[in-house]
Amino acid sequence: MRLNIVCIPGDGIGPEIVSEAKKVLNKIAEKYGHEMVFTDILMGGASIDVHGIPLTDEAIATAKAADAVLMGSIGGDTNTSPWYQLPPEKRPEAGLLKIRKALNLFANLRPAVLYEELAAACPLKEEISAAGFDILIMRELTGGLYFGERKTVEENGVRKAIDTLTYDENEIRRIAIKGFDIARKRKKKLTSVDKANVLDSSRLWRAVVNEVAKEYPDVKVEHMLVDNCAMQLVKDPAQFDVVLTENMFGDILSDEASMVTGSIGMLASASLNDTKFGLYEPSHGSAPDIAGKDLANPIATILSASMMLRYSFDLDQEADAIDAAVKKVLQDGYRTGDIMSEGCKKVGCKEMGSLITERI
Ligand code: NAD
Repeated sequence: MRLNIVCIPGDGIGPEIVSEAKKVLNKIAEKYGHEMVFTDILMGGASIDVHGIPLTDEAIATAKAADAVLMGSIGGDTNTSPWYQLPPEKRPEAGLLKIRKALNLFANLRPAVLYEELAAACPLKEEISAAGFDILIMRELTGGLYFGERKTVEENGVRKAIDTLTYDENEIRRIAIKGFDIARKRKKKLTSVDKANVLDSSRLWRAVVNEVAKEYPDVKVEHMLVDNCAMQLVKDPAQFDVVLTENMFGDILSDEASMVTGSIGMLASASLNDTKFGLYEPSHGSAPDIAGKDLANPIATILSASMMLRYSFDLDQEADAIDAAVKKVLQDGYRTGDIMSEGCKKVGCKEMGSLITERI
């Protein structure tokens, strides 16, 4: 298969971690007989330095022409970098919002996996973490409260702020279909999270999810109120497979789920549109404090590359090979500084990438 991949190395540790993910992908190409064509584009601070803006129209066109985008991270030290003296629409993060909008990326996927080998980093009690967990939070990314009409008014000398939460059935249906498709590739369980005891938007959400569920009789569906879900994530995370939810609930729950793994350098993510196209990136930022020192953990980016193979190219066997190689490296006792524990061997970003590549 020919895979046309656009890479955004970005800023800070971005170029270092993307380079390790490419190393792993090249090994996959060699072993499984694929052709990977990588084209780099500039985004964030790297683009500001060259073009004066965080993302050019040419870069967007290049990304649109690709099959998928693999990103490192963008942004600098928000206290000291001159990029943050610019007006908000010219700062590095504006590039990210622009590309998400241009590519119509409405579904955000964030896995939260607890590896047995890293269980010590999990802040939950041992009897809860012992079972391990592998959750995929699927968050609607372009609708709901964050995109609704908002205003602040003054009535009889009292200030009043109004935000509106709107979803139409098409917005719900398209993400529900994505959720069920992905649940089918996993343990075939989908928990739809809402606040249907209070909100009309949640009642519509639940109704549409139930309609879509009829097309997926092999996937077990359950509905859970968001307040209960927030509790269940720390009480019994092993019960979850795919968690499907709207924008604001997903924002909060995905951060909660990633915190319970305890390892930010391990967390991948994907943002998808209604074709097979997706943008894949680690959940962490550009870590300017360790940039250029070969200290970054490349695993979140390598696992993002694995998600890319699985969800944009349907190359499940190849994705499984990457996931297994990551697990093997952890079993063999290798750690970057951020996940280091006693008795393990500390390695840098490059060596970690090579060790994973060797195990494919
Ligand atoms: P951060 O995630 O970059 O760093 C937080 C802490 O985690 C730091 O101590 C860092 O060294 C460490 N860390 C993060 N990733 C690591 C890795 N792979 N290996 C080892 N250690 C790692 O968050 P921040 O410091 O709040 O933000 C720094 C910059 O990143 C800011 O400009 C912010 O806007 C940007 N940011 C970008 C994205 C993105 O590109 N999608 C996401 C979040 C933050």
